[in-house]
Amino acid sequence: MGTLGHEVYMLVDYHCHTCFSQDSKASMAEQCQAALQRRLHQIAFTEHEDYNPDDPTSFYFRHEAYLREVERCRQAFGTSLVIRAGIEISEPHRHAARAGRVLAEYPWDFVLGSLHWVTPEVDSYRPQFFTTWCDGDWRLAFRRYFTEMIALARDGDFDVLAHLDYPARYGKRYFGDEYDIGEFEDLVREALSILIARGKGIEINTSPWRKGAAHPNPPQVVLSWYREMGGTVLTIGSDAHAPQEVGADMSRALALARAAGFTHITLFEQRKPTFVPIANDVPEPNV
Ligand SMILES: [Zn+2]
Ligand SMILES: [Zn+2]
Repeated sequence: MGTLGHEVYMLVDYHCHTCFSQDSKASMAEQCQAALQRRLHQIAFTEHEDYNPDDPTSFYFRHEAYLREVERCRQAFGTSLVIRAGIEISEPHRHAARAGRVLAEYPWDFVLGSLHWVTPEVDSYRPQFFTTWCDGDWRLAFRRYFTEMIALARDGDFDVLAHLDYPARYGKRYFGDEYDIGEFEDLVREALSILIARGKGIEINTSPWRKGAAHPNPPQVVLSWYREMGGTVLTIGSDAHAPQEVGADMSRALALARAAGFTHITLFEQRKPTFVPIANDVPEPNV
């Protein structure tokens, strides 16, 4: 922790990948070094755990080698950086038995639940989601995405729901400036109410900002809904897959969390949440 005037601040990144994920080439040590350079106090490595046979990341994550590397980095970086062992499970509600075994077998600190494949056939990341699925009606595609997210919120084993409006990251060329999550408020609020009842959190995923988008996943209004409805569990993550992305826009995200009514962000150890206050004036990271 550092101090800024009388305020206590803490910069953390709770959504990072390394080469234990199929779509990253970064070593864990490199990612830790980048975290230190950006004055992060904690980093959680949330590697892809995917079971869809059509996904290139499927069955790639080697848990034991990963946990050995976490231990090695903890030794190497000592008290200068807290390293949390995380996992990002795709569609945990549809793969409950397999995911459950992995969660039971290893000492995870933090579990993200993600909806990447809206159905077993449709990856929300690909043009198909916006163009051919739902007859190219992207509004209907989003409705079906958020409907599936309700099922994930209800049935998945995870701590925090990742990138709540994930398709918004990739579909700008199809929906232009017309996407407004307010159109889907009924479905999103239903998912949020389930998350809150189960003590599950949401994250501010800053990745869209790096792609020039106006909003992170999800936009501020969703953070406000969750907060007003009584939600308190909020993490912040960059979704970094490379060292230059680690810790990106963490201060901006903290400012957004404050603006949405949050006084604390959430950290995890052994899947137990703790809450740290957000300073009035958070410092810019050293990016
Ligand atoms: Zn993801
Ligand atoms: Zn991710």
